[in-house]
Amino acid sequence: MRVERGRIRSGGRRERSRARRLAMFDFLIVGAGLSGCTLAERLANELQARVLVVEKRSHVGGNAYDAYDDNGVLVHKYGAHLFHTNDWEVYGYLSQFTEWRFYMHRVLTWVDGQLLPFPISLETLNQLYGLSLTTEEMEAFLARRRESREINNSEDMIISQVGRELYEKFFANYTLKQWGMPASELEPEVCARVPVRFNRDLHYFADRYQGMPKQGYTRMIERMLAHPNIKVLLNTDFEEIRHLIPYKSLIYTGPIDEYFHHKHGPLPYRSLRFEFETLDQEFFQPVCVVNYPNHFDYTRILEMKHATGQQCRATTIVREYPQAQGEPFYPVPARRNSELYRKYAAEAEGLTDVYFVGRLGQYRYLNMDQAVRAALDLFQRIRAQGR
Ligand SMILES: Cc1cc2nc3c(=O)[nH]c(=O)nc-3n(C[C@H](O)[C@H](O)[C@H](O)COP(=O)(O)OP(=O)(O)OC[C@H]3O[C@@H](n4cnc5c(N)ncnc54)[C@H](O)[C@@H]3O)c2cc1C
Repeated sequence: MRVERGRIRSGGRRERSRARRLAMFDFLIVGAGLSGCTLAERLANELQARVLVVEKRSHVGGNAYDAYDDNGVLVHKYGAHLFHTNDWEVYGYLSQFTEWRFYMHRVLTWVDGQLLPFPISLETLNQLYGLSLTTEEMEAFLARRRESREINNSEDMIISQVGRELYEKFFANYTLKQWGMPASELEPEVCARVPVRFNRDLHYFADRYQGMPKQGYTRMIERMLAHPNIKVLLNTDFEEIRHLIPYKSLIYTGPIDEYFHHKHGPLPYRSLRFEFETLDQEFFQPVCVVNYPNHFDYTRILEMKHATGQQCRATTIVREYPQAQGEPFYPVPARRNSELYRKYAAEAEGLTDVYFVGRLGQYRYLNMDQAVRAALDLFQRIRAQGR
């Protein structure tokens, strides 16, 4: 028997099945983010499977990781993570591992020297233009401005909803900074996520379940992993153990192109640099997130105390600077990238006992609830296969 590319290879079927019997782990899971940890929890608790989670960072939680900084402020190390979902099963599933703090997210955006509610609502337009429009008048106001056009990209999407002037003020520069390319080159869905509200609702999300894990995401995820059948290996890249640890099945939540050693070329990702600053004051800004869709190099300033509800004297703010290099945070949703991804997805389909899931494994922006949903669905598939 020899161990090659992380899977047990052998000449004969009998030898292969013997090797599988001897494997220490039923599942090797690459990545301790929400996707990997949901699968580890389900497999261990429901199937009594022996699971090894390998994570290259020094902590579990993936991008949802939160921790107390040197000043005792609970911060999100990889950008603000606000939980929201309409999927009661996902909400119920996570609720086994945490209680929730009620929190409805709000975002303001800095436009023309004012902090305005975002997404664009009746309140936004009234403040921006010093008007007192009603819902019907807002409909008429936007109807005069929107351009009817074929929707081929995100610019078309926004201009057809709110017109060019509001597009320029709220979206054009933000999108350019965030993605390193104009909205005209991005798939329509990227900006379609942002609604327009014809009422005074100032909340960012409209989902039925919204909140923050009471003791934070890391604590919640640690509880998910607290099973004797789950071992976690931190500070270890999958590549380091790929050929060393025998296992029966592999669940891969890292970048799918990396798994195949970029054989079709690298899939582009957008990254962020986070600049943390602690201030000796209770709060810095009125809400958790303020967008800067203008000439500032950063796109947003975050202040997590609004969301976590933590009461302490100091506050920590985070400026987010988008960049091309660095940790792969956002799959870039452009058509040519989807085509490249499909080549890797086709390769993945040719493998047995290897599953790709999660934001990087599926090369798709997934909110946390969608990541958990995809993991729960994969678990059902694996169970049905009798693994
Ligand atoms: C800036 C930012 C803000 C976000 N805000 C929100 C929000 O407000 N609400 C929301 O619902 N969602 C939000 N998300 C999305 C959320 O982070 C994802 O839904 C979630 O992290 C998906 O979990 P995952 O396990 O698929 O991926 P990840 O969290 O990325 O976990 C993957 C893990 O795999 C590890 N890994 C990768 N390659 C290897 C390897 N070769 N070897 C070992 N380990 C490896 C990585 O280190 C990482 O820990 C945000 C994302 C970002 C980037």
